[in-house]
Amino acid sequence: MEDCIFCKIVSGEMPCHKLYEDHRVIALLDIFPTTKGHTLLVQKEHEQDVLHSSEENAQALLTTARSLAPTIMKTVHATDINVIFNVGANAGQTIFHTHMHIIPRYAGDGLETWPQGETDHEAFKKLAEEIKGNV
Ligand code: AMP
Ligand code: ZN
Repeated sequence: MEDCIFCKIVSGEMPCHKLYEDHRVIALLDIFPTTKGHTLLVQKEHEQDVLHSSEENAQALLTTARSLAPTIMKTVHATDINVIFNVGANAGQTIFHTHMHIIPRYAGDGLETWPQGETDHEAFKKLAEEIKGNV
């Protein structure tokens, strides 16, 4: 798609630090890494986010993550990883072409996780019913 950075990377019009490629997915280093080894798995087909991706493309991202992540971790000596999809601008998505983040984590890396809220079983019960009612 015109003006899409990841389409340009996929087509070779823009350079990247490529780690892996197959017919559905390309893996590359994030140019503004959160931690050392921060990798993006970008699907080759332009779809706006993982909820709009085909089943096959979404599955290919997960399959690639499962095979590539241990190699990344071993190389950068990470103990753990976060695997994240940002879906929508309010969730931090800035490039609207489906991609998965693999973010290596290290003891004492100082990154915060999400804050935790209050437990409210009454409210949860109502909300669970409401969501199930909308399935
Ligand atoms: P998101 O915010 O989930 O849409 O993630 C987009 C990611 O793409 C960010 O982590 C950026 O640092 C990264 N990024 C932006 N431009 C490039 C580029 N040219 N090459 C590699 N990564 C990029
Ligand atoms: Zn694109």
